[in-house]
Amino acid sequence: MESNDWYLATKQLLSHLQRSGITRLPKAHQPLPDAVAAWGQRESSALSTHPIPNASLEVQGKSTLVGQLAPAISTPQQKNTEASNSASPPRSLGDPSSVPVTTGHARPAPVPAMAQVPAFSHSSALEDTKAWARPRGTDEERTESLRILAEDVKACRKCSEIVCRRQQTVFGIGPHNVRFVMFGEAPGAEEDRTGEPFVGPAGQLLDKILVATGLKRDEVYIMNTLKCRPPNNRTPTEAEVENCRPFFESQIEILQPEYIICWGSVASRALLKTTESIGRLRGRFYRYKQAKVLVTYHPSYLLRNPDAKRQTWEDMKFLMRDMGTLK
Ligand code: SF4
Repeated sequence: MESNDWYLATKQLLSHLQRSGITRLPKAHQPLPDAVAAWGQRESSALSTHPIPNASLEVQGKSTLVGQLAPAISTPQQKNTEASNSASPPRSLGDPSSVPVTTGHARPAPVPAMAQVPAFSHSSALEDTKAWARPRGTDEERTESLRILAEDVKACRKCSEIVCRRQQTVFGIGPHNVRFVMFGEAPGAEEDRTGEPFVGPAGQLLDKILVATGLKRDEVYIMNTLKCRPPNNRTPTEAEVENCRPFFESQIEILQPEYIICWGSVASRALLKTTESIGRLRGRFYRYKQAKVLVTYHPSYLLRNPDAKRQTWEDMKFLMRDMGTLK
């Protein structure tokens, strides 16, 4: 039964009771007055054939509304009963225990506290696929916007400890009309030398993962959270991530990908603004603007912990199922 039907049925019951001179329902353990029993016999078969599967917040809202209507109807006889039983507070129609006609209406289950970032299930993600449109603007406009942004990055000197040691900035590489963005942590020594992201041993492993997933490197855009190499490849500080945030957010805004794969905890925490570990974040999609975000382990971590490759492969299969390339 739709929640609106439930509301109308309840309204019908209230009107019927008022017309019958009954202005308050009995407590659950008392026998039903004839008028209520008659109404129940007429309506219960219809209600039981359309059970409300689970109470939603919307349904809960209707109950609250009914509860507000209930105090307006109360018989002198019942007022006396309540006065003699002051230890038991009067129940209203909003209290589920006082409603004699039950339909399998359950209290809503508590929402899991995990969702620090907007998340959606695999089935929701599939619905969202229809909503994704190719990026706005022409390739030339995106190329020009990214060129200007890359110039700003080159001129940036916000992170004092980094700028005095970097060889060059590492902006990003790939076509400007892509469905997939690979989002990593920060340049390493090889990237700092060449100016390209993911070209060292971790980059070679990324290439293998992409091939296994059915993606070519020239079909994806590859970029990092930080555009400069932290000294000795140390983990970027929160301040450095925030310094670089306008750059990577603008970059994604211009590219408007359908999927963003976050490689490692620095990338996932920066993009999703969460402190959850990879282990807890992986295995589902998250929303970042128009893109679906998938989180998995960084290739550098996989080189140090080969056992985790199996989980990353599971994540890639999850992605492929959503892309429709794996059944
Ligand atoms: S890491 Fe980003 S914010 Fe820091 S100096 Fe480089 S470009 Fe600027």
